[in-house]
Amino acid sequence: MENIFPLQGTLMHYDWGGQHFLPELLGIANEQGKPFAEYWMGAHPKSSSNILVNNQPVNLLNAIYAEPNHFLGERVAARFGSLPFLLKIQDVQHILSIQVHPTLEEAIAGFDKEEKAGIPIDALQRNYKDKNHKPEMLVTLSDFWLLHGFCEPELISKRLEENPEFNILKPLFNKDGLKAVYQFVMEMEPADTHYWLLNLVKREIRKKREGQLTPEEPGWWVARLYPEGEEPEQIDKAIFSIYLLNIVNLPKGASLFQSAGLPHAYMQGQCVELMSNSDNVLRAGLTPKHIDVPELIRLTRFETTHPNIQFGQNALAGETQFPVPVDDFALTRLNITPEMNYQHRSSSPEILVVTEGAALFNQELVLKRGESVYILPETEYQITSSGSVSLFRAWVP
Ligand SMILES: [Zn+2]
Repeated sequence: MENIFPLQGTLMHYDWGGQHFLPELLGIANEQGKPFAEYWMGAHPKSSSNILVNNQPVNLLNAIYAEPNHFLGERVAARFGSLPFLLKIQDVQHILSIQVHPTLEEAIAGFDKEEKAGIPIDALQRNYKDKNHKPEMLVTLSDFWLLHGFCEPELISKRLEENPEFNILKPLFNKDGLKAVYQFVMEMEPADTHYWLLNLVKREIRKKREGQLTPEEPGWWVARLYPEGEEPEQIDKAIFSIYLLNIVNLPKGASLFQSAGLPHAYMQGQCVELMSNSDNVLRAGLTPKHIDVPELIRLTRFETTHPNIQFGQNALAGETQFPVPVDDFALTRLNITPEMNYQHRSSSPEILVVTEGAALFNQELVLKRGESVYILPETEYQITSSGSVSLFRAWVP
């Protein structure tokens, strides 16, 4: 088939990844017990997938660069010039860095400013790696926990009240609000915050050990950050943020969208994530990477977020569409059973990945769990399955 190409993604072994889920999904041995954090499918300059053309691997980014109209279609090529999305499967074992992403306008301005200042693109203190925004959409493959936006002021007040270390912040919170408190903490010297938060961390570790905490409480996640039985060495002041943010538990099959300016961090579980092709991340802690506090404060939206958890809308038979408020990408889940003959015509480039079962494309190409394909625009295809199969399809609306 010259319109449907088997795709080989790339793996990211970040420290926060789990050791079992991705190796098992992809059929890879992991005898050394390495962390497998993310599996990338797309044409990201940092790590492009290969497609198999006549059984030969071809770098997808290079293929698109050489023939944009062929591999993207004229509409997507004219508007984006490259594949506008990156599809990932993630396995989160340990909490990720707390982060926010810029709007499109902020990314363009930030990129130009850093270019003018002569900051090299790979410098540690560089915030903007490209001129793109980075909206992110996740659909869970398991029970999933994350931090997502600021919680209600009443809850923040209660948490400042019940932890004696935070009592000194209450007058500032009552008078000047969330932003003032957050900025005050983020601008404190690391040595000061360590001693300020040491007793809090010790108390949370003890409470967790004694079974007094549940994952709905910030202390559960704070305690998990530090190895048991050891004196915490350097306490990251970002743990304070955990007491300000919504702790969200998603069941399998739920979706959540992270918009620009919304602080968030994935904490535990497996998911499919679809995002625009960008690296623009402003970090707020729980990371050894660069933190630009003034820029972080400028980009963060200090407002209450009520997590908008969705389970998708049924489109055609077998299709569930997860609505996203941007037009860079769209995400559909397909559940195909033996009695169905699913037929579709692509309107843009598409990436499909099988997350459960096995699928048969056009009666000739078998795609097993963990396998994926790149499909050209204006391609007619048919999917059948002898068992039942779940796939995710990323495309451009
Ligand atoms: Zn993010």
